[in-house]
Amino acid sequence: MKAIKGAALFDGVSHEMIKNPVVLLEGDRITEVGTAATVQVPADAEVLDYGDCFLMPGMLDIHVHLTSEGSPDPRKSLHDPEAALAFKAARHAQLTLAAGFTTVRSMGAKFDIDIQLKKSIAAGFVKGPRITASGRCITITGGHGHNGGIEADGPWEVRKAVRTLLKSGADVIKVMATGGVLTEGVEPGAAELCLEELQAAATEAANAGKRTATHAQGNTGIRQAVEAGINSIEHGCFLDDEVIALMLQKGTALVPTLAAPRHILDHGLEAGIPQYAVDKTKFIAEKHLISFAKAYEAGVPIGLGTDAGTPFNYHGANALELQYMVEAGMSIMAALRAATSTAAAIIGQEDNVGSLQPGCYADVLAVKGDPTKDVKVLAAKENIAAVILGGEVI
Ligand SMILES: [Zn+2]
Repeated sequence: MKAIKGAALFDGVSHEMIKNPVVLLEGDRITEVGTAATVQVPADAEVLDYGDCFLMPGMLDIHVHLTSEGSPDPRKSLHDPEAALAFKAARHAQLTLAAGFTTVRSMGAKFDIDIQLKKSIAAGFVKGPRITASGRCITITGGHGHNGGIEADGPWEVRKAVRTLLKSGADVIKVMATGGVLTEGVEPGAAELCLEELQAAATEAANAGKRTATHAQGNTGIRQAVEAGINSIEHGCFLDDEVIALMLQKGTALVPTLAAPRHILDHGLEAGIPQYAVDKTKFIAEKHLISFAKAYEAGVPIGLGTDAGTPFNYHGANALELQYMVEAGMSIMAALRAATSTAAAIIGQEDNVGSLQPGCYADVLAVKGDPTKDVKVLAAKENIAAVILGGEVI
């Protein structure tokens, strides 16, 4: 048995912080959370006392690309061999964990490397966060992400693609409802997989008890995806009141990934980002921020996702997304929940991760500074005093 102590604690859900908190754990799970006054620490328990540090759940980033390293021009690594991508993914997983992200949802990886990495981490060969893996994405012929994704046209090909991914071990199915920024020759505003194809993906995944997520930037594609019952909208650049109302009705979540366009605009052409990517980012960026703020105001569940691996969007810098969401109008507490309990609920893992409560994995961060006053403290590596994954100090 172990006991973790600190100065204050955010449990991932409640507005009220716990002062002088004690978290008890047995094996890799939490058994009790309270204060020094309420929790009996057994005499033989190992005590991890983090002094005046702030305790909170390990964070979640529910949109990452582990095989991409954030280089300016994504075309450069298009022909990387499978082994090279696997080594990169392992390194990126370690950097992510060290930054305080104990769970990630991988949203597309060539050769299903994320699924294999997840298995290697579980087997103890590599250190890394818990991974909910999609494997390859499903896209139309020549569509967004077709390099490395599965091209499928028509509901039957989409069903076959979903079944192929499930056989490979996918935890979640990622589809492409619209074009996007980083694939040359497709448009972010254009619908891609059609309603019938999206319905086929949603149904086939649900039959196997799995959730679905879609890359969706343009309005028509987003609306079709929500209608089809896809569980989360990734990016969601062109939302309107009608689509937001439909998302609320269907319980569809939003993973905005504000970091992706932000890093592209901050660095630009001079840094080597291709012209087509900068142009398309300029087309979506302003509407993206407006859509995010509208969805937040309306009460759409929002989870933290960075799209890490896109240009200058580095694995390990994932916590910048909290700051970007706060700058775009989200409250600090909502941003902290987006990085913990809300993200966990969006991926169906709320009983395991994203909050500090009995029964959950003991994934705990000790942080210098108070993130409930300023989320920027989470983005500075020197402030992450300890990362505890399943009760083990990393
Ligand atoms: Zn992505």
